[in-house]
Amino acid sequence: MSKRDFYEILGVSRSDDEKSIKKAYRRLAMKYHPDRNPDDAEAAEKFKEATEAYEVLTDANKRAAYDQYGHAGVDGQSGFGGGGQGGFSDIFGDVFGDIFGGGGGGRHNPNAPQRGSDLRYRLDLDLEEAVHGTTVSIKIPTQVACDSCDGTGSADKSKPTTCSTCGGHGQVRMQQGFFSVQQTCPSCHGRGTKVTNPCRKCRGEGRVQDQKTLSVKIPPGVDTGDRIRLSGEGEAGVNGGPTGDLYVQVSVREHKIFERDGKDLYCEVPVSFVDAALGGELEVPTLDGRVKLKIPAETQTGKLFRLRGKGVKPVRGGVQGDLLCKVLVETPVNLTEKQKALLREFQGSVDETSDHHSPKKANWFEGVKKFFEDIKG
Ligand SMILES: [Zn+2]
Ligand SMILES: [Zn+2]
Repeated sequence: MSKRDFYEILGVSRSDDEKSIKKAYRRLAMKYHPDRNPDDAEAAEKFKEATEAYEVLTDANKRAAYDQYGHAGVDGQSGFGGGGQGGFSDIFGDVFGDIFGGGGGGRHNPNAPQRGSDLRYRLDLDLEEAVHGTTVSIKIPTQVACDSCDGTGSADKSKPTTCSTCGGHGQVRMQQGFFSVQQTCPSCHGRGTKVTNPCRKCRGEGRVQDQKTLSVKIPPGVDTGDRIRLSGEGEAGVNGGPTGDLYVQVSVREHKIFERDGKDLYCEVPVSFVDAALGGELEVPTLDGRVKLKIPAETQTGKLFRLRGKGVKPVRGGVQGDLLCKVLVETPVNLTEKQKALLREFQGSVDETSDHHSPKKANWFEGVKKFFEDIKG
Protein backbone atom coordinates (compact mmCIF):
# COMPACT_ATOMS: atom_id res chain seq x y z
CA MET A 1 0.00 0.00 0.00
CA SER A 2 1.58 3.24 -1.09
CA LYS A 3 1.28 6.08 1.38
CA ARG A 4 0.10 9.54 0.50
CA ASP A 5 2.29 12.52 1.16
CA PHE A 6 1.74 13.90 4.67
CA TYR A 7 1.58 17.50 3.51
CA GLU A 8 -0.93 16.53 0.88
CA ILE A 9 -3.06 14.68 3.43
CA LEU A 10 -3.30 17.73 5.66
CA GLY A 11 -3.58 20.12 2.75
CA VAL A 12 -0.66 22.25 3.87
CA SER A 13 2.54 23.32 2.15
CA ARG A 14 6.05 22.24 3.06
CA SER A 15 6.84 25.66 4.43
CA ASP A 16 3.82 25.91 6.71
CA ASP A 17 4.51 26.24 10.43
CA GLU A 18 3.30 24.04 13.24
CA LYS A 19 0.37 26.28 13.97
CA SER A 20 -0.99 25.94 10.46
CA ILE A 21 -0.46 22.20 10.57
CA LYS A 22 -2.30 21.94 13.83
CA LYS A 23 -5.13 24.02 12.46
CA ALA A 24 -5.37 21.91 9.33
CA TYR A 25 -5.38 18.73 11.35
CA ARG A 26 -8.01 20.01 13.69
CA ARG A 27 -10.30 20.75 10.77
CA LEU A 28 -9.83 17.26 9.30
CA ALA A 29 -10.11 15.57 12.65
CA MET A 30 -13.37 17.32 13.40
CA LYS A 31 -14.68 16.05 10.09
CA TYR A 32 -13.46 12.47 10.24
CA HIS A 33 -13.36 11.75 13.95
CA PRO A 34 -14.76 8.25 14.64
CA ASP A 35 -17.06 9.63 17.31
CA ARG A 36 -18.74 11.75 14.67
CA ASN A 37 -18.72 9.02 12.02
CA PRO A 38 -19.68 5.82 13.73
CA ASP A 39 -19.28 2.70 11.59
CA ASP A 40 -17.75 4.63 8.74
CA ALA A 41 -14.62 2.76 7.73
CA GLU A 42 -13.55 5.35 5.17
CA ALA A 43 -13.77 8.19 7.68
CA ALA A 44 -11.86 6.12 10.21
CA GLU A 45 -9.10 5.53 7.67
CA LYS A 46 -8.98 9.25 6.79
CA PHE A 47 -8.80 10.16 10.45
CA LYS A 48 -5.99 7.72 11.04
CA GLU A 49 -4.10 8.98 8.02
CA ALA A 50 -4.45 12.62 9.09
CA THR A 51 -3.43 11.81 12.63
CA GLU A 52 -0.28 10.06 11.52
CA ALA A 53 0.63 12.98 9.27
CA TYR A 54 -0.06 15.39 12.09
CA GLU A 55 2.05 13.47 14.53
CA VAL A 56 5.05 13.39 12.24
CA LEU A 57 4.82 16.97 11.03
CA THR A 58 4.43 18.51 14.47
CA ASP A 59 7.51 16.74 15.78
CA ALA A 60 10.54 18.73 14.64
CA ASN A 61 12.84 15.71 14.47
CA LYS A 62 10.38 13.51 12.65
CA ARG A 63 9.43 16.29 10.29
CA ALA A 64 13.09 16.81 9.37
CA ALA A 65 13.52 13.08 8.80
CA TYR A 66 10.38 12.97 6.70
CA ASP A 67 11.44 15.99 4.65
CA GLN A 68 14.76 14.36 3.90
CA TYR A 69 13.88 10.68 3.48
CA GLY A 70 10.12 10.62 2.98
CA HIS A 71 8.07 7.87 4.61
CA ALA A 72 11.17 5.73 4.95
CA GLY A 73 12.54 8.28 7.38
CA VAL A 74 9.72 8.00 9.85
CA ASP A 75 8.12 4.62 9.29
CA GLY A 76 8.01 2.41 12.28
CA GLN A 77 8.67 5.21 14.70
CA SER A 78 5.49 7.19 14.54
CA GLY A 79 4.09 5.10 17.35
CA PHE A 80 0.70 5.52 15.83
CA GLY A 81 1.31 3.05 13.05
CA GLY A 82 0.99 0.19 15.48
CA GLY A 83 -2.64 1.07 15.90
CA GLY A 84 -2.25 1.23 19.64
CA GLN A 85 -5.00 2.97 21.49
CA GLY A 86 -2.39 4.93 23.41
CA GLY A 87 -0.97 6.92 20.50
CA PHE A 88 -4.41 7.97 19.47
CA SER A 89 -5.37 9.17 22.91
CA ASP A 90 -2.38 11.41 23.37
CA ILE A 91 -2.93 13.29 20.17
CA PHE A 92 -6.60 13.52 20.88
CA GLY A 93 -6.01 15.04 24.27
CA ASP A 94 -3.53 17.51 22.86
CA VAL A 95 -5.62 18.84 20.02
CA PHE A 96 -9.08 18.45 21.40
CA GLY A 97 -8.50 19.41 24.95
CA ASP A 98 -9.85 22.87 24.28
CA ILE A 99 -12.61 21.84 21.92
CA PHE A 100 -14.29 19.12 23.87
CA GLY A 101 -13.64 20.62 27.22
CA GLY A 102 -10.72 18.62 28.40
CA GLY A 103 -11.51 15.89 30.87
CA GLY A 104 -13.83 14.25 28.38
CA GLY A 105 -13.40 11.13 26.48
CA GLY A 106 -10.70 9.29 24.68
CA ARG A 107 -8.07 10.84 26.86
CA HIS A 108 -6.77 7.77 28.44
CA ASN A 109 -7.08 4.20 27.59
CA PRO A 110 -9.39 2.57 30.12
CA ASN A 111 -7.68 -0.75 29.64
CA ALA A 112 -4.21 0.58 30.32
CA PRO A 113 -2.62 -0.37 33.61
CA GLN A 114 -3.07 2.39 36.15
CA ARG A 115 -0.90 3.01 39.13
CA GLY A 116 -2.74 2.82 42.43
CA SER A 117 -3.26 6.03 44.36
CA ASP A 118 -0.74 7.23 46.90
CA LEU A 119 -2.01 7.27 50.44
CA ARG A 120 -1.25 9.73 53.18
CA TYR A 121 -1.34 8.86 56.83
CA ARG A 122 -0.96 11.36 59.60
CA LEU A 123 1.02 9.92 62.46
CA ASP A 124 0.90 11.69 65.82
CA LEU A 125 3.96 11.06 67.95
CA ASP A 126 5.02 12.07 71.41
CA LEU A 127 8.15 14.18 71.55
CA GLU A 128 10.07 11.32 73.15
CA GLU A 129 9.09 8.96 70.32
CA ALA A 130 10.04 11.52 67.69
CA VAL A 131 13.41 12.21 69.30
CA HIS A 132 14.39 8.64 70.11
CA GLY A 133 12.72 6.91 67.18
CA THR A 134 10.17 4.16 67.51
CA THR A 135 8.30 1.46 65.68
CA VAL A 136 4.59 1.99 65.34
CA SER A 137 1.85 -0.22 64.08
CA ILE A 138 -0.58 1.68 61.88
CA LYS A 139 -3.88 0.64 60.35
CA ILE A 140 -4.73 2.15 57.01
CA PRO A 141 -7.91 1.78 55.00
CA THR A 142 -6.90 0.92 51.48
CA GLN A 143 -7.82 -0.89 48.29
CA VAL A 144 -6.05 -4.20 48.14
CA ALA A 145 -6.03 -6.80 45.40
CA CYS A 146 -8.89 -9.23 45.95
CA ASP A 147 -7.45 -12.50 47.19
CA SER A 148 -10.46 -14.48 46.07
CA CYS A 149 -9.88 -13.81 42.36
CA ASP A 150 -6.21 -12.82 42.48
CA GLY A 151 -7.23 -9.31 41.44
CA THR A 152 -8.71 -10.39 38.11
CA GLY A 153 -12.28 -9.57 39.18
CA SER A 154 -13.43 -12.82 37.65
CA ALA A 155 -14.72 -15.76 39.66
CA ASP A 156 -12.93 -18.21 37.39
CA LYS A 157 -9.92 -15.88 37.04
CA SER A 158 -10.54 -15.55 33.30
CA LYS A 159 -9.56 -12.46 31.35
CA PRO A 160 -12.14 -9.69 31.05
CA THR A 161 -13.81 -9.20 27.67
CA THR A 162 -14.18 -5.98 25.71
CA CYS A 163 -17.33 -4.06 26.61
CA SER A 164 -19.83 -4.28 23.77
CA THR A 165 -21.61 -1.03 24.65
CA CYS A 166 -18.61 1.22 24.11
CA GLY A 167 -16.41 -1.09 22.09
CA GLY A 168 -13.68 -0.86 24.67
CA HIS A 169 -13.42 2.93 24.66
CA GLY A 170 -14.88 3.34 28.12
CA GLN A 171 -16.80 6.33 26.78
CA VAL A 172 -20.00 6.69 24.84
CA ARG A 173 -21.25 9.64 22.88
CA MET A 174 -24.69 11.01 23.77
CA GLN A 175 -26.68 13.46 21.70
CA GLN A 176 -27.96 16.32 23.81
CA GLY A 177 -29.80 18.73 21.57
CA PHE A 178 -27.28 20.38 19.30
CA PHE A 179 -24.27 19.06 21.17
CA SER A 180 -22.97 15.60 21.41
CA VAL A 181 -21.42 14.85 24.73
CA GLN A 182 -19.04 12.13 25.68
CA GLN A 183 -19.87 10.22 28.79
CA THR A 184 -18.45 7.40 30.80
CA CYS A 185 -19.87 4.15 29.50
CA PRO A 186 -22.72 3.16 31.84
CA SER A 187 -22.24 -0.48 31.08
CA CYS A 188 -18.57 -0.88 32.05
CA HIS A 189 -18.18 2.34 34.08
CA GLY A 190 -15.34 3.54 31.90
CA ARG A 191 -13.29 0.41 32.14
CA GLY A 192 -13.76 -0.65 28.53
CA THR A 193 -13.90 -4.23 29.65
CA LYS A 194 -16.43 -6.39 31.39
CA VAL A 195 -16.04 -9.40 33.57
CA THR A 196 -18.46 -12.08 32.44
CA ASN A 197 -18.37 -14.09 35.62
CA PRO A 198 -17.69 -11.52 38.33
CA CYS A 199 -16.00 -12.51 41.55
CA ARG A 200 -18.51 -12.34 44.35
CA LYS A 201 -16.17 -10.94 46.94
CA CYS A 202 -15.05 -7.87 44.97
CA ARG A 203 -18.08 -7.71 42.63
CA GLY A 204 -15.77 -7.80 39.65
CA GLU A 205 -13.64 -4.88 40.79
CA GLY A 206 -10.53 -6.94 41.38
CA ARG A 207 -9.87 -4.81 44.45
CA VAL A 208 -11.52 -4.71 47.83
CA GLN A 209 -11.62 -2.11 50.56
CA ASP A 210 -9.60 -3.40 53.42
CA GLN A 211 -7.53 -2.37 56.37
CA LYS A 212 -3.87 -2.93 56.20
CA THR A 213 -1.75 -3.10 59.33
CA LEU A 214 1.78 -1.94 58.82
CA SER A 215 4.72 -1.79 61.12
CA VAL A 216 6.52 1.48 60.47
CA LYS A 217 9.99 2.24 61.73
CA ILE A 218 10.34 5.88 62.70
CA PRO A 219 13.96 7.04 62.68
CA PRO A 220 15.16 9.13 65.64
CA GLY A 221 15.01 12.89 65.20
CA VAL A 222 11.90 13.26 63.05
CA ASP A 223 9.87 16.42 63.41
CA THR A 224 6.45 17.73 62.48
CA GLY A 225 6.17 17.91 58.70
CA ASP A 226 8.60 15.09 57.97
CA ARG A 227 7.35 12.45 55.58
CA ILE A 228 8.31 8.83 55.49
CA ARG A 229 7.66 7.11 52.18
CA LEU A 230 6.71 3.48 52.18
CA SER A 231 7.12 2.42 48.60
CA GLY A 232 4.40 0.12 47.28
CA GLU A 233 2.18 0.39 50.38
CA GLY A 234 -0.47 2.59 48.75
CA GLU A 235 -3.57 1.48 46.91
CA ALA A 236 -3.48 -1.49 44.58
CA GLY A 237 -3.20 -0.62 40.89
CA VAL A 238 -5.87 -1.16 38.25
CA ASN A 239 -5.48 -3.52 35.28
CA GLY A 240 -2.25 -4.86 36.68
CA GLY A 241 -0.74 -1.40 37.29
CA PRO A 242 1.79 -0.88 40.06
CA THR A 243 0.78 -0.16 43.62
CA GLY A 244 0.93 3.40 44.90
CA ASP A 245 3.06 4.60 47.79
CA LEU A 246 2.16 5.40 51.36
CA TYR A 247 3.36 8.65 52.86
CA VAL A 248 3.46 8.76 56.63
CA GLN A 249 3.22 12.39 57.68
CA VAL A 250 4.72 13.00 61.10
CA SER A 251 3.09 15.35 63.56
CA VAL A 252 4.67 15.74 66.98
CA ARG A 253 2.34 16.37 69.92
CA GLU A 254 2.87 19.21 72.31
CA HIS A 255 4.96 18.32 75.32
CA LYS A 256 4.21 19.29 78.90
CA ILE A 257 7.73 20.45 79.65
CA PHE A 258 9.67 20.87 76.44
CA GLU A 259 9.14 23.05 73.45
CA ARG A 260 11.03 22.08 70.33
CA ASP A 261 12.62 24.34 67.77
CA GLY A 262 14.35 22.16 65.20
CA LYS A 263 17.17 20.46 67.04
CA ASP A 264 16.98 22.62 70.16
CA LEU A 265 14.68 22.10 73.12
CA TYR A 266 13.42 24.77 75.50
CA CYS A 267 12.11 24.42 79.01
CA GLU A 268 11.31 26.68 81.91
CA VAL A 269 12.80 25.98 85.31
CA PRO A 270 11.26 27.60 88.38
CA VAL A 271 13.74 28.65 91.04
CA SER A 272 13.28 30.19 94.49
CA PHE A 273 14.42 33.76 94.93
CA VAL A 274 16.83 32.55 97.57
CA ASP A 275 18.54 30.11 95.19
CA ALA A 276 18.53 32.77 92.51
CA ALA A 277 20.20 35.21 94.90
CA LEU A 278 22.72 32.87 96.47
CA GLY A 279 23.32 30.58 93.53
CA GLY A 280 22.84 26.86 93.67
CA GLU A 281 22.40 23.62 91.89
CA LEU A 282 19.12 22.84 90.15
CA GLU A 283 17.83 19.58 88.83
CA VAL A 284 16.54 20.00 85.33
CA PRO A 285 14.80 17.45 83.14
CA THR A 286 16.14 16.31 79.80
CA LEU A 287 14.68 13.72 77.46
CA ASP A 288 17.33 11.33 78.78
CA GLY A 289 16.69 11.89 82.45
CA ARG A 290 17.59 14.54 85.01
CA VAL A 291 20.79 16.53 84.97
CA LYS A 292 22.26 19.08 87.38
CA LEU A 293 22.40 22.71 86.38
CA LYS A 294 24.53 25.11 88.39
CA ILE A 295 23.23 28.63 88.51
CA PRO A 296 25.47 31.42 89.74
CA ALA A 297 24.58 33.84 92.53
CA GLU A 298 22.55 36.89 91.48
CA THR A 299 20.76 35.01 88.68
CA GLN A 300 17.90 37.10 87.34
CA THR A 301 14.57 35.72 86.23
CA GLY A 302 14.34 34.90 82.53
CA LYS A 303 18.01 34.03 82.22
CA LEU A 304 18.71 31.26 79.68
CA PHE A 305 21.14 28.47 80.41
CA ARG A 306 22.37 26.32 77.56
CA LEU A 307 23.02 22.64 78.08
CA ARG A 308 25.05 21.61 75.05
CA GLY A 309 24.18 18.37 73.35
CA LYS A 310 21.05 17.81 75.41
CA GLY A 311 18.73 18.61 72.50
CA VAL A 312 17.72 16.54 69.52
CA LYS A 313 19.94 14.66 67.10
CA PRO A 314 18.56 15.68 63.70
CA VAL A 315 17.13 12.89 61.56
CA ARG A 316 19.15 14.02 58.55
CA GLY A 317 22.38 13.98 60.50
CA GLY A 318 24.46 16.73 62.05
CA VAL A 319 25.33 17.89 65.52
CA GLN A 320 22.95 17.18 68.36
CA GLY A 321 21.06 20.29 69.46
CA ASP A 322 21.04 21.96 72.88
CA LEU A 323 18.63 22.24 75.76
CA LEU A 324 17.89 25.82 76.75
CA CYS A 325 16.62 26.27 80.29
CA LYS A 326 14.92 29.51 81.17
CA VAL A 327 15.08 30.27 84.86
CA LEU A 328 11.93 31.72 86.36
CA VAL A 329 12.33 33.22 89.82
CA GLU A 330 9.24 32.55 91.87
CA THR A 331 7.62 34.75 94.45
CA PRO A 332 7.07 32.70 97.62
CA VAL A 333 3.44 32.02 98.54
CA ASN A 334 1.60 30.67 101.61
CA LEU A 335 4.08 32.26 104.02
CA THR A 336 3.65 31.90 107.80
CA GLU A 337 3.67 34.96 110.04
CA LYS A 338 7.17 34.09 111.08
CA GLN A 339 8.40 33.88 107.51
CA LYS A 340 6.72 37.18 106.67
CA ALA A 341 8.44 38.76 109.66
CA LEU A 342 11.76 37.46 108.41
CA LEU A 343 11.13 38.97 105.02
CA ARG A 344 10.23 42.32 106.54
CA GLU A 345 13.39 42.18 108.57
CA PHE A 346 15.28 41.37 105.42
CA GLN A 347 13.60 44.20 103.54
CA GLY A 348 14.54 46.59 106.37
CA SER A 349 18.13 45.61 105.96
CA VAL A 350 18.20 46.48 102.25
CA ASP A 351 15.67 49.34 102.11
CA GLU A 352 18.14 52.21 102.41
CA THR A 353 20.18 51.02 99.50
CA SER A 354 17.52 49.36 97.34
CA ASP A 355 19.02 50.44 94.04
CA HIS A 356 22.26 48.79 95.00
CA HIS A 357 20.53 45.42 95.40
CA SER A 358 18.15 45.72 92.48
CA PRO A 359 20.03 46.06 89.19
CA LYS A 360 16.91 46.66 87.15
CA LYS A 361 15.18 49.03 89.48
CA ALA A 362 17.60 51.95 89.13
CA ASN A 363 17.41 51.82 85.34
CA TRP A 364 13.69 51.39 85.50
CA PHE A 365 13.12 54.51 87.61
CA GLU A 366 15.39 56.45 85.31
CA GLY A 367 13.37 55.23 82.35
CA VAL A 368 10.04 56.19 83.90
CA LYS A 369 11.32 59.62 84.83
CA LYS A 370 12.53 60.24 81.29
CA PHE A 371 9.27 58.97 79.87
CA PHE A 372 7.19 61.54 81.77
CA GLU A 373 9.64 64.33 80.95
CA ASP A 374 9.34 63.46 77.25
CA ILE A 375 5.54 63.62 77.47
CA LYS A 376 5.65 67.05 79.03
CA GLY A 377 7.92 67.98 76.13
ZN1 LIG B 1 -18.33 0.09 28.11
ZN1 LIG C 1 -12.45 -10.75 43.54
